[in-house]
This record gives sequence, structure tokens and C-alpha cells, in this order.
Amino acid sequence: MTELADRLTQALPAIRAGAEPADERGEFPAGSIAALRDAGLLGLLSPESAGGIGGGPADVVEAVSAVAGACGSTAMVYLMHLSAAAVVGAAVPPEGGDDLVAALASGAQLGTLAFSERGSRSHFWAPVSRARRLDGAVGIRASKSFVTSASHADVYVASTLAPDAASPTDSSLYLVARGSDGVRIDGTFDGLGLRGNDSAPVTLDVTVPTGARLGDDCSGFGLMMQVVLPCFSLGNAAVSLGLARAALEAAIAHAGGADFVHLDSALRDLPTIRAYLAKGWTDLVAHEALLRETAAKVAAPDDTTVLAVLATKAGCNEAALRITETALRVTGGAGFSKQVAVDRPYRDARAGFVMAPTADALFDFAGRALCGMDLF
Ligand SMILES: Cc1cc2nc3c(=O)[nH]c(=O)nc-3n(C[C@H](O)[C@H](O)[C@H](O)COP(=O)(O)OP(=O)(O)OC[C@H]3O[C@@H](n4cnc5c(N)ncnc54)[C@H](O)[C@@H]3O)c2cc1C
Repeated sequence: MTELADRLTQALPAIRAGAEPADERGEFPAGSIAALRDAGLLGLLSPESAGGIGGGPADVVEAVSAVAGACGSTAMVYLMHLSAAAVVGAAVPPEGGDDLVAALASGAQLGTLAFSERGSRSHFWAPVSRARRLDGAVGIRASKSFVTSASHADVYVASTLAPDAASPTDSSLYLVARGSDGVRIDGTFDGLGLRGNDSAPVTLDVTVPTGARLGDDCSGFGLMMQVVLPCFSLGNAAVSLGLARAALEAAIAHAGGADFVHLDSALRDLPTIRAYLAKGWTDLVAHEALLRETAAKVAAPDDTTVLAVLATKAGCNEAALRITETALRVTGGAGFSKQVAVDRPYRDARAGFVMAPTADALFDFAGRALCGMDLF
């Protein structure tokens, strides 16, 4: 067993135990995040020199899909933390940056991304807010539409147009502490799935030091595309497939145990049921293989990597819609009525598709790449 597998084995029981309250009551899975912290897994992508594991893309896929199989809400909170840690580590801000890298690695601080804005919706690469230059500081006024862990993260990585932005992608990224004056969390998350992920709207009217900027002014778009997009897309695809696997495995188990007493047979004796399961399984393992291959490409990028990342997130998001649909169909009223554990992964799996870059936007980007057109 690898060290990562050992860490997951340590954390997963608590994560499984927290899944139902997260789903039924929309509770933030604090115990699950503590279990990830105790197992050292919040430092998965953080450098070993800062106390992290120094893992790579394949590790994100393995860890996030395993966590999603136990609790989708926890997996999304975890993925947002990893994405924030990755970009902070790649462009350490001068003001308190080293301490923050270590705090994100140990899990002393939980991170998240505050990218999507009301004004540009899922087009997170084009924030409509614009930073104002102040004396040694910048003012940021932004209306963020969804921020995972909004009330629980210690630090947001927030996007905004640079003060002198000349185009919609001339953005910068800033660290904003959740406790800062001018951070307002506008409600709670009450969604179809991932109900514990606390992805609430957040209004920012903050002043942050210039040294809280990640990288140079106007480097936000590059950091989003080169650091956040690969990490988030692989992890988001892993959430989708972890949920799909959980639903399909529950359906397979149900098919063996649901009896037709009057026929002395079970669901699995129906050829249609077996065919649904086999098709779902084929879909699942094909996309798991694709995801592993794309993770390897991200670790050793070449000319095909960008297209692979775009297509893999979209493809895995769609596969999860199909596979969880199959699991619900196979388990009939038992699945629909929560007697079989397919309804939560079914609902949770609907989120990956609408999370930016959305699957449909990605298909458009991938189509543009295939046709030799500019992506933006
Ligand atoms: C559970 C959850 C957690 C989230 N967490 C975060 C977070 O932590 N941080 C963050 O910044 N954001 C987060 N988001 C926001 C997310 O990334 C998207 O920005 C958001 O879901 C988009 O919703 P919308 O209604 O604005 O979509 P819209 O942009 O209105 O899209 C509506 C439809 O139009 C389609 N569409 C839009 N543009 C195109 C295009 N160019 N080509 C083809 N189709 C297109 C979409 O695919 C979708 O089907 C989260 C969202 C959810 C649901």
C-alpha cells in the first residue's frame, strides 16, 4: 500500500460518517476536513519543504476520487483547498506568503477560490470587478457568486481585473482573509447536491496590501490557466468519477440482493439489468483510464495537454451524469427512495457539469482547439 493510500485509509471512515449530515442538513463537513488534516492530506500538493506531501496530478486524482466516493461535499471542499494551495505555492505573495504556504500545507488554514462573479457568471476567466490602486494597497469590490467553504475557509484566493486592465482577461489574484473588514457572506448554500460544500455568494469590499497579490499585476489569467485549471479540472473530473463509481457499486450490490421471491430470482437475473450495469462499468473504467492518462500529461506536459485537460473534465462530467442515471434506473424505486445509496451521488454528480469551466463551455473550447481557432 502506498503512503497516500495509507493516509486515505486513515481519513475515509470519518469522511463516510459525515456524508449523511452534510447531505441531509447541509452541514459543512468539518469533521471530514479535520480527518483530512490529521492524515496530512490537506498538504497533498504543498511542497515537502513547507511540510506538505509534494504530490502531483495523479495523486490529486487518486485522493479526490476516493474522498468523493465517501462524501461529495467533502471532496469539493478538499479540491478547492488544493487548488488554492497550488496557486499560492506557484506564486507566493510577498506579504505573509511563506507562512501561508506552510499553513495551507498543515491545514492550519483552509483555502478556497473566489473566482466566479455575478457579472460574468461561469466565465470566471473574465472578472468584471476591478481593483483600485490605493496608497500601498488595493481596494477590491466584487460580487462573487459562489465560494465553496465561504464561511469556513480562512483565506480566499480572489480574482479581479487589474487597476489598468485593458482587456477582460487582464486580471490579478489576491489573498483575502475571510475575517477581513468588508467580507460579507451573503447567505448559505441550499443546492440539489454537494449540500455541505457551503458554496455561498460573497461580497467583497476590502482593502488588501499590494503584497497580498499572487504574482505580477495582470498575471491572474496566466495563473488561472496554467496552475488552477489543470489542478481543478483533474480534481473536478475525479469528483465526478468517484461519485459515479460509488453509485454504480451500490447498484451492483443491490442487483445481487434484491429478490423476486415469486420467481426465485434476483434483479441480476434480468439481462437488461446486467447490460445496464456492464455499459455503466465500461463507461466508468474508460473515463477513469482517460483521467489517469490526462493526469500523466499534466505531470509531463506536451502540445496535447491543454486539449486533453479540457476534454477530460467535460467527458468525465458527462460520463458521471450517464453512470449515475444508470445506477438510479437499475435500482428502481429502492434507489429513488434512498433505500439504496445512489440518490446522493446521483445529485452530487450533477454539480461537476455546471462548475466552471462548464462542460458545455469546455466542449466549445475543445472544438475551437480542434479547429485551430483561438480559445478566447
Ligand atoms: C457546488 C458549486 C460550488 C462552486 N464553487 C465555486 C468556488 O469555490 N469558486 C468559484 O469561483 N466558483 C464556484 N462555483 C461556481 C461555478 O464554477 C460556476 O461559475 C457556476 O456554477 C456557474 O453558474 P451560472 O448560473 O452562473 O452559469 P451560467 O454561466 O449562467 O451558465 C448557464 C448555462 O450556459 C452554459 N454556458 C455558459 N457559457 C457557455 C459557453 N461559452 N459555451 C457553451 N455553454 C455555455 C453553461 O454550460 C450552463 O449550461 C461553484 C458552483 C457550484 C454549483
